[in-house]
Amino acid sequence: MEAYHEVLFSLGDSIMSAQPIASQPVPSSAIRAFMARKPRLLINGEWVDARSDKTIAVFDPATGQEIARVADAGPEDVNRAVAAARAAFESGPWPEMSPAGREALLWKLSDLIERHAADLAELESVNNGKTRFMASIIDVPGARDWFRYMAGWATKIEGSTIQTSIGGVPGAKFHTYVAREPVGVVAQIVPWNFPLAMAAWKLAPALAAGCTCILKPAEQTPLSALRLGELILEAGFPPGVVNILTGFGETTGAALVAHPGVDKVAFTGSTEVGKIINKSATDTMKRVSLELGGKSPMIVLPDADVGTAVGGAAMAIFFNSGQVCTAGSRLYVHSKIFDSVIEGLSGAANAIRLGPGLEQGTEMGPLVSKEQQERVLNYIESGRKEGASIAAGGEAVAHPGYYVKPTVLVSVKPQMKVVREEIFGPVVVAQRFDDLDEVVRAANDSPYGLGASIWTNNLSAAHRLIPRIKAGTVWVNCHNMLDPNMPFGGFKSSGIGREHGRAVMDLYTELKSVCILI
Ligand code: ADP
Ligand code: MG
Repeated sequence: MEAYHEVLFSLGDSIMSAQPIASQPVPSSAIRAFMARKPRLLINGEWVDARSDKTIAVFDPATGQEIARVADAGPEDVNRAVAAARAAFESGPWPEMSPAGREALLWKLSDLIERHAADLAELESVNNGKTRFMASIIDVPGARDWFRYMAGWATKIEGSTIQTSIGGVPGAKFHTYVAREPVGVVAQIVPWNFPLAMAAWKLAPALAAGCTCILKPAEQTPLSALRLGELILEAGFPPGVVNILTGFGETTGAALVAHPGVDKVAFTGSTEVGKIINKSATDTMKRVSLELGGKSPMIVLPDADVGTAVGGAAMAIFFNSGQVCTAGSRLYVHSKIFDSVIEGLSGAANAIRLGPGLEQGTEMGPLVSKEQQERVLNYIESGRKEGASIAAGGEAVAHPGYYVKPTVLVSVKPQMKVVREEIFGPVVVAQRFDDLDEVVRAANDSPYGLGASIWTNNLSAAHRLIPRIKAGTVWVNCHNMLDPNMPFGGFKSSGIGREHGRAVMDLYTELKSVCILI
């Protein structure tokens, strides 16, 4: 079996890393044509201009060059999209459609994603910076599979019949049941790290449940969502069922969250913005689900194989250039093997081949934006100032594009910013531990609780640790593994609610109790 990290990184091959960063190959004519299309919003089944005619520039992170412009949706556009989603929810073909009809549409969409997989992967790579290879093995098949899996849920939503003991009316009998209904119009705000996959995580369950949606992609990475919008129309979803508004978070996103015509907000992004959204949504008592930041610990017990731990740690933190909410960004290694693991991980970091996403052989792309590159470099600088040592990386690359070298920080202290805060880049902080109580305390000493991993072949040790770790997902001998059937979400400041699996249906449905005097 090839280890997962071996598919993404050739960690031992340091000859590769000596190569300079290549230039970004020219995208295919289909992708160039798509990027040149008129900036438009998807409202009520049609591509329409934003009322203001304002646009937002979109960049290729590998070059820093503008590659497209998208529409900047203003308050009037938000009103139009909410009205379309409301009308589509209340009347017309969507509420009339059978669950099997919704299932068929979702399957059709997944087939269209599969048919256009190569183009979607290329578009995702050019806009986000990730490699085309990774987009084609993770993001695009993930989007397809989420629509497929959730298609099945459309026909499996069920309620219950319950027995009551209602007193006060002698001899009265009741027939009482609980029905599940779609929650209504849903605003879905997604981030830039997995733009297409995040759109699928949001749209697929909401549509399966019978909701109507307004999707707002991140301003940095709107292109694949717009392409998905074209496929949604091609699949034949009725007008207004899916609306796509490109725009900034503070304006378009905030307007959606405050809008009285929206019943629920589903958000994936930073904890900072999640708190703002949760507060704002209270005024209109919206249902809110939040998938937020993380600072996920990776715990390597003394019996772990050093090579496995090295590959696993590299994968946990450098996958998607570290721009992953569950990135294994705090590495805790038992003292017995700490030095060997750090030596291996630093060598691995130095061997990862950085480059533009469309270049064959690139293993890690640039970060998504200039802003993100600066943010990550500032964190590295703060670590340095607070006394951390750099075992690998620690700097940008003197080349256009938003590159940051895979970075390993050691000699860190629990109170340092680099240990406490989410960096969202290819930067891991490594610490040693000697006993299990100590590492449990350290792992849980964080406002976050999204993911964690334990590396050991000691079954009892793993099972004893799992219940003590405060995180929504605990992996053993792997990290960042997700499945549409596996609930996902955070403890503590990492969020509210669980997406995927049966659990996500709770987010997109309301319970209705029906009590009939018979
Ligand atoms: P980052 O800071 O890394 O860009 P954010 O949490 O700001 O992460 O962004 C995630 C998503 O949230 C994006 O689609 C962004 O436009 C949106 N967003 C940002 N601020 C707000 C806000 N105040 N209200 C609603 N959405 C927002
Ligand atoms: Mg932001």
